[in-house]
Amino acid sequence: MIFYKTEEEIELIRESCLLVCKALAHVASIIKPGITGEQIDREAEQVIRDHNAKPGFKGYRGFPGTLCISINEGVVHGIPTKREFQDGDVVSVDCGSFLNGFYGDSAYTFALGEVGDDVMDLLRITNTSLYKAIDTAIVGKRIGDIGFTVQDYCEKQHKYGVVRELVGHGIGKDLHEAPEVPNYGRRGRGPLMKEGLVIAIEPMVNLGKKEVRQSDDGWTIITKDKKPSAHFEHTIAVKKHKADILSDHVLIEEEIRKNAAVQEVAILV
Ligand code: MG
Ligand code: MG
Repeated sequence: MIFYKTEEEIELIRESCLLVCKALAHVASIIKPGITGEQIDREAEQVIRDHNAKPGFKGYRGFPGTLCISINEGVVHGIPTKREFQDGDVVSVDCGSFLNGFYGDSAYTFALGEVGDDVMDLLRITNTSLYKAIDTAIVGKRIGDIGFTVQDYCEKQHKYGVVRELVGHGIGKDLHEAPEVPNYGRRGRGPLMKEGLVIAIEPMVNLGKKEVRQSDDGWTIITKDKKPSAHFEHTIAVKKHKADILSDHVLIEEEIRKNAAVQEVAILV
């Protein structure tokens, strides 16, 4: 069942999403080769707790961290570890918070140091696909229009692998609500989007093939061919003419520009 949100509820979800992005912006300011996933996880948790909120993922189905940190072939759901980030790593950082009764959810993939052109292209295309998908999230369109947009751009035009097993989702009083929001699909299919629908759109796109598997740590989803993967996520509210993006990556990108160890991921037009 889909829970449509009131304007007041959407503002509360926005607050939760902005806190997530504040935590991710803090990550953007400190992430560099030589520091560990555990370190950025601890700092992100502190940002969230300093605002009288709770980490949205910690304890969710037993997940141990505030952040999901998925490096290189890691797609999503990576656990924070003592492994030091290395020059050339691409690091997906996914964060959730629970504030005033509502969840926020957003993710960004950071390119550390010298990342190959092919991988930077993957990041740019994946990030761009997120905004193309958001453009379709308006009243009267269907969930399949979102998936079609990501799949058409990433898979058909750019020959990347779009992950099938993991999807975006409704969000509100629960972290994962109906409907599921796949990154593949057919135009005009799936649930109709109406005013008050709040969803997390999160393309997960692989440089190589689309197939993924769970790694031996029991959490991290990795690409089967071990090629890198990218992941960007916004929480949005469906509106009549243009979706309202409740999370804010500008906060993150401002910090990236100040951090010499991280490369900016441009959005292509
Ligand atoms: Mg997320
Ligand atoms: Mg999500």
